[in-house]
Amino acid sequence: MTDMIEPRLELGALKPYLPLEEDAQVVLSANESSYNLPQTLVDEVKEKLGSFTFNRYPDALASGLRKQIATVYGVSADNVVLGNGSDELIQCLLLAYGACGRSVFTFEPTFSMYNIISQTVGTKVYRFERTDLFDVDVAKAIEAAKDFEPALIFLCSPNNPTGNPISNEDIESFLKQTGALIVIDEAYAEFSGQTVTSLINTYPNLVVLRTFSKAFSLAGLRIGYMLASSEVIKNVLKVKLPYNCDAFSQMVASLVLKRKDILKPQIEEIISERDRTFVELKEINGINPCPSAANFILIKTEKEASFVWKKLLEAGVLVRGFSEPRLRDYLRITIGTGEENDIVLKTLKGIVDGK
Ligand SMILES: *Cc1c(COP(=O)(O)O)cnc(C)c1O
Repeated sequence: MTDMIEPRLELGALKPYLPLEEDAQVVLSANESSYNLPQTLVDEVKEKLGSFTFNRYPDALASGLRKQIATVYGVSADNVVLGNGSDELIQCLLLAYGACGRSVFTFEPTFSMYNIISQTVGTKVYRFERTDLFDVDVAKAIEAAKDFEPALIFLCSPNNPTGNPISNEDIESFLKQTGALIVIDEAYAEFSGQTVTSLINTYPNLVVLRTFSKAFSLAGLRIGYMLASSEVIKNVLKVKLPYNCDAFSQMVASLVLKRKDILKPQIEEIISERDRTFVELKEINGINPCPSAANFILIKTEKEASFVWKKLLEAGVLVRGFSEPRLRDYLRITIGTGEENDIVLKTLKGIVDGK
């Protein structure tokens, strides 16, 4: 063999994305729901499995689920597409609108997938730093968009990992004053109550991403969806793999959506636990929590964050640390059950007391 072929140049700087696997009793590192699906829904799933069609390919458009979602938001099924998690839809958007010399804007710190997937498909990323309070400098970004003409602008609201939303007014400024697709990632919108889904029919360049992975307790199944103009959906369907959502996941997601009232108490519990945890974190010396509209809280630690991370792990709690310089003193803690949050609070208090 002569010299073996190298991968594309863009991949050179990337490492495989492998979430940290640590054995911990309490996993508060990935913003999943700490509550599994309620037993009544699990029982309904079991019942449906009795006559389930395993041997046929799934519905390529997830038509049933697609119609249900359209009804929930008062849009047409043409405004909806399902993905293997919303991560896949980010990839679809970049395949359809990015690549081949095009660029995107991100506002750091934010969800790392915008950067990673952009690089894998050969799209240039212009990274804008958020302000001290982690807000987006909207005027500056809109000005820059005139020069760089990005294909996509990624806005995560509430933002992962900082927890703060961007106002609908700011989003409308982006929509009106740029020609880019404005991608609003609303993975945590069920916890914030704030959404721009009602603007889908007003702005053809608005794209909203939602997921069943967080508030709907289905991270294990991989179902996300996009709401956008029928024009954008049509183009995403050109690059989407035909059978991207498996039949089992479609069935369960459809059931959960039909019976979503059952999940409401869980979501409300997480919201009230978030607010309680925030207040108690504020009371702890050496811990500075960022206000959050999501199901996690970013904290700044006076003691080295890696030390605090280790102490939490010793107490059986896995949280998320960061390698990027700006977040070196921070940890992101997913809101768990009341009991789980108490372990976090007690451990953090203990560290301050030198225990
Ligand atoms: C968790 C998360 C997602 C991923 O959702 P999946 O549907 O599980 O792929 C997307 N965006 C943000 C900001 C997230 O935090």
